[in-house]
Amino acid sequence: MSKVWYAPLGAEEKQEVIAAKVVELFEVAGFEKIFNKKDFVAVKLHFGEQNNTGYIKPAFIKPLLEKIKGYETKPFLTDTNTLYRGQRTNSVDHLVQAYEHGFSIENLGVPVIIADGLMSRNHTEVSIPGNHFDKVAIANDVVDSDVLVVLSHMTGHILTGMGAAIKNLGMGAAPRSGKQKQHADVKPIVKRDRCHTCGSCIRRCPVGAIAYVDGSAHIDHEKCYGCAECVAACRTGAVRVPESSSGILLQEKMAEYALGAIQGKEGKMCFFNFLIHITKECDCIKEAQDKVIEDIGILASYDPVAIDQASLDLLTKIAGRNLFRELWPENDHQVQLAYSEKLGLGSRKYELEKIE
Ligand code: SF4
Ligand code: SF4
Repeated sequence: MSKVWYAPLGAEEKQEVIAAKVVELFEVAGFEKIFNKKDFVAVKLHFGEQNNTGYIKPAFIKPLLEKIKGYETKPFLTDTNTLYRGQRTNSVDHLVQAYEHGFSIENLGVPVIIADGLMSRNHTEVSIPGNHFDKVAIANDVVDSDVLVVLSHMTGHILTGMGAAIKNLGMGAAPRSGKQKQHADVKPIVKRDRCHTCGSCIRRCPVGAIAYVDGSAHIDHEKCYGCAECVAACRTGAVRVPESSSGILLQEKMAEYALGAIQGKEGKMCFFNFLIHITKECDCIKEAQDKVIEDIGILASYDPVAIDQASLDLLTKIAGRNLFRELWPENDHQVQLAYSEKLGLGSRKYELEKIE
């Protein structure tokens, strides 16, 4: 059974209160023991897509970074480039976006490094005992770091139902080629009777896989690489990902990549989940999203599976219902938890200690 620490938050807490809770969790969990002098510390987070407002704010983590630096380590903030078209598809645009959201050395005292390089080609093949893969591509600067501090903003997700630590590791530490392999089974279809020929999906598809055929949009599965941009773009619900080809395989593959991301980091990683401004979709969405529930708090653990399970259980308890399943009925997010546990990534059994 893994230990998970939980610091509750009131509605609309000040940023300095949130930052103080993060440090308190760090101290109570005894995370200082994972750091040695001169360790390269990869602090993995999501800088937030352009116009998104849900991401973990720099002010939440500034005292945490100061604490980590206090152990004479070399921390850096990091993420990988995206599969979809946006402001984070190459390192130059990605860094500019990170700076625009306040993740700069001037503001936080640590540099930002995009872990998979300018065009997302810098990665290492890591061997894992998976069912889908025996090797996964992990961004070099994650592989080369000594310590992994994973900061995850828990949200719903269009294809995986939910995203937190497992997704931050599995999708977030993979270069574009790895993300593409994880999405390979996602083949959306268009329900012809719901298509109003608005053209939105055609404009959003990065590879020109959608065209009108016989009066409705049609997806060419030879060209489609499963990014789900079209699903997000369609406001009539005409574009759907059939359950058989979607969430289950994607979540299993994502868990295998997560296992690859932590290889060699045993005893050298810690996780924080931020249950703050929880939204229906993830921070890759290029617009501000309303939160779906009042802020809950922050969790910390050494175990990525236990922290995600505990986060989900807290959300369900406080919402009084399975909120992510309600938001994404076609995607059973439990798959990523169960499969990660089966792979040995962590345990779904946990003991929760509340920090007041
Ligand atoms: S058809 Fe949809 S899922 Fe496929 S590549 Fe285009 S936008 Fe992405
Ligand atoms: S976005 Fe939806 S309604 Fe618009 S063309 Fe595509 S499938 Fe049809």
